[in-house]
Amino acid sequence: MIEKERIKHLNHIKESEGDYVLYWMQASQRLHYNHAFQYALLESERLSLPLVVYFGLMDHFPDAALRHYQFMVEGLLEVKSALSKKGIRFVVVHNSPEIGARKLSENAAVLVTDRGYLRIERDFRNRIKEKVSCPFIQVETNVVVPVDTVSQKEEYAAATIRRKIERLLPEFTHPMELGPYEVPMYSDALPVEEMLFENLAEILHDLDLDRGVLPVSHYFRGGYSEAKKHLKKFLEEKYSNFASLRNDPAVDVASNLSPYLHFGQISPLEIYLSLPLDLSENRASMVDELIVRRELAMNFVEHNPQYDTFGSISSFARDTLLIHKNDPRSYLYTKKELEESKTHDPYWNAAQSELVLKGKMHGYMRMYWGKKVIEWTASPEEAYDILVYLNNRYSLDGRDPNGYAGIAWCFGKHDRAWKEREIFGKVRYMNDKGLERKFSIGTYVKNVDALKQGEDSNG
Ligand SMILES: Cc1cc2nc3c(=O)[nH]c(=O)nc-3n(C[C@H](O)[C@H](O)[C@H](O)COP(=O)(O)OP(=O)(O)OC[C@H]3O[C@@H](n4cnc5c(N)ncnc54)[C@H](O)[C@@H]3O)c2cc1C
Repeated sequence: MIEKERIKHLNHIKESEGDYVLYWMQASQRLHYNHAFQYALLESERLSLPLVVYFGLMDHFPDAALRHYQFMVEGLLEVKSALSKKGIRFVVVHNSPEIGARKLSENAAVLVTDRGYLRIERDFRNRIKEKVSCPFIQVETNVVVPVDTVSQKEEYAAATIRRKIERLLPEFTHPMELGPYEVPMYSDALPVEEMLFENLAEILHDLDLDRGVLPVSHYFRGGYSEAKKHLKKFLEEKYSNFASLRNDPAVDVASNLSPYLHFGQISPLEIYLSLPLDLSENRASMVDELIVRRELAMNFVEHNPQYDTFGSISSFARDTLLIHKNDPRSYLYTKKELEESKTHDPYWNAAQSELVLKGKMHGYMRMYWGKKVIEWTASPEEAYDILVYLNNRYSLDGRDPNGYAGIAWCFGKHDRAWKEREIFGKVRYMNDKGLERKFSIGTYVKNVDALKQGEDSNG
């Protein structure tokens, strides 16, 4: 079932002749629990036309490096193989995505796409929406509750959006099944130059991209089937301790699903529906992270045009940080020193090393990591830019609404005012004593050291 709120017509064309239905896959790089793919399949059936699935693979996607490209292409190769088993053609064009979408839409009866929320994803759609000569339909499938249905304005905090989301959840949590659709394969020539999309090494070789951040496939390999393995492990081995140990960096009870959610390789609805139907704190905690916090982040980037800069911060937090801008700092580090984990703080260094080596940092350490950069740089504006840079460059799940909202949170966004203190003003502060009091933080440092030794011995 595809709820009508997920569907939006991006132009005014109602009907058009064409040789195929075109699904422009962009933010939802999967077939399972993909309402946009399902919508396109239903259109194929209705119009008795073949379905063509298209992906535009561009060089130098902003802030993405080899690490991110490899993860994404691993997932897309799986999409291609699953489509070919269904007899559906997958076409990849080596260009900016909207260019191939527009060209292919010239012969299409309908153009369907999914919905990403970042500026660049909106720009891709906006650039062509008036130029497409067939109906152009967006189907929202990377959130449980459609963003505009939850709220038409920027929400103030998790508490304000939680009530709205909880009320709407029953309407948007229907299981989805891919029916036994029989669509003929489109085998004629297409009006674009297709990329030979078969071999991971050759695909990556042909792209012009930043190769300075190495892949981390030995920790996280891309693709739906890998996402399902993480989900299975989470449900079988971690879920029962999720609420009590989620914040503890010394143990690993997090799902590790964020890289897969970022590339749309798994759907949040599928994860939600796979949780045990119990009344436990574990379920409540996972639902709060996966839906409330995550969809608060979508609301933030949708409604706050400055989401990736210090300008996005709410006035109380911005004012208080600027009042304390010239407070003396005990330590000042450059971007390079931070990037290379060269601070006096072993816990912070471990967190940054985990990010670089593994492509993902423990969720609780992310908060500490962000707070300390505010304390150790000359201004909150500089701290903001450095955090965005490090998070986007090294994290597999970076360049995501969650990343921008997480960084903004470190600067007081979606949080309340606390007791005033130096540098932070009324913005919440975190310190190493808190880590020592709450966790076996030495174990976390040792675990990261073991990662480093593993990397060294592998050359
Ligand atoms: C400074 C900072 C930067 C961050 N950068 C990113 C980022 O680039 N990408 C990213 O996906 N998350 C980011 N987060 C949010 C959070 O830390 C990660 O989503 C989480 O650690 C991902 O690991 P997991 O999938 O194992 O999480 P789990 O604990 O297993 O949670 C399951 C899912 O819930 C969602 N979730 C969990 N915590 C949060 C949260 N605080 N806010 C929003 N959604 C959440 C994620 O989609 C996550 O995959 C950031 C947080 C901070 C403080």
